[in-house]
Amino acid sequence: MSAKRGPSMSAKRGPSMSAKRGPSMSAERSMAPSAGQSAESLNSAKRLVVKIGSSLLVDDKSGAIHRAWLEALIDDVAAEHARGTEIMLVSSGAIAVGRRHLGLTQRNLRLEEKQAAAATGQIRLAHAYQETLARHGITVAQILLSLADTEERRRHLNARGTLNTLLRLGTVPVINENDTVATAEIRVGDNDRLAARVAAMLGADTLVLLSDIDGLYSADPKSVPDATPIPEVKAITPEIEAMAGEAPVGYSSGGMVTKLAAARIAVNAGCRMVIADGRCLNPLRALGEGARCTWFLAEVEPLTARKRWIAGSLKPLGEIRLDAGALKALRSGKSLLPAGVTQIGGSFARGDAVVLLSPEGREVARGLAAYSAADARRIMGYNSREIEARLGYRGREELIHRDDMVLT
Ligand code: GLU
Repeated sequence: MSAKRGPSMSAKRGPSMSAKRGPSMSAERSMAPSAGQSAESLNSAKRLVVKIGSSLLVDDKSGAIHRAWLEALIDDVAAEHARGTEIMLVSSGAIAVGRRHLGLTQRNLRLEEKQAAAATGQIRLAHAYQETLARHGITVAQILLSLADTEERRRHLNARGTLNTLLRLGTVPVINENDTVATAEIRVGDNDRLAARVAAMLGADTLVLLSDIDGLYSADPKSVPDATPIPEVKAITPEIEAMAGEAPVGYSSGGMVTKLAAARIAVNAGCRMVIADGRCLNPLRALGEGARCTWFLAEVEPLTARKRWIAGSLKPLGEIRLDAGALKALRSGKSLLPAGVTQIGGSFARGDAVVLLSPEGREVARGLAAYSAADARRIMGYNSREIEARLGYRGREELIHRDDMVLT
């Protein structure tokens, strides 16, 4: 591993690292891939989410952003981007940056104080990403999400549509939780899980959690010196859960427990996840070159996972009957356009699941509607060019996009 460590990073990692593991272990740390490693590689990622934790990005005492570290990370991001990988960053750090500017130095902040800190810090965070990405001529886009945006289907469809468009336009979206409006009940709470939800929503194939540890160990290496690293996890079994230990008291976020929760969300959605060490400069490059880490393998492809979800887990709230031409188009892998619809039943909102019926009334597919039942009735039978004139706004061309549909 050729990655250098920034000065503040090495101070943090030095003595505690050698105390955690024996000398033979630390020698192994810098070696190239060995037999005990996973066959997974970052280089095969096509749609990638990278989660960046506060402690990597922000100096705990001064609240300053570790500029050299960020610039090196963004060099890696730009290299991925140049290879044609679609890449999104989920970045923490708004509260850590903002609290210093507001003089909120006490250890435990009240929720309103955290929200105020996030409001101040998020601007600075966004600015830092904008500047570092601009060095490579890459446009940044900021997305602030709440739990409902990733869970409630209508908002999910909106957030997904926006992010897909941003990726298509070649930007690098930088995502964080919308801390200023998210109160306890509606918070995701930690960015490990937020990143997993984003990866699931966008059908990403790879999620990287950049962390202050280089993966999962058989036990907590801080208390068990001979704990062994786990290079690959095929299934999150109770044994694996036991390795993560208990969540640290008083912390709702961070730690191995939330990382496993994130892994469960990701792998169920068909996205593999890796916990990798972010404390060095150029951590993505190091990962690509075979640095020690833990891969959690996905069982299915992201698209298959999404289609299973549409076909199996959602209760359909309406029926859409197709003409013969639309049915033929669907069977050849096309989206459903309003022009091919002859009848609409039920009452559904945008993003709800519906059943698609053949001209004879047999179920042929299921999908998520891009329009409510009322709007769909107004545009059915019409050419997509006429949608705007009929509805008064310019919506999608498709009534159901093929990515949101599964033949049954
Ligand atoms: N959204 C929080 C922030 O930006 C961080 C949450 C987390 O790190 O898990 O400060």
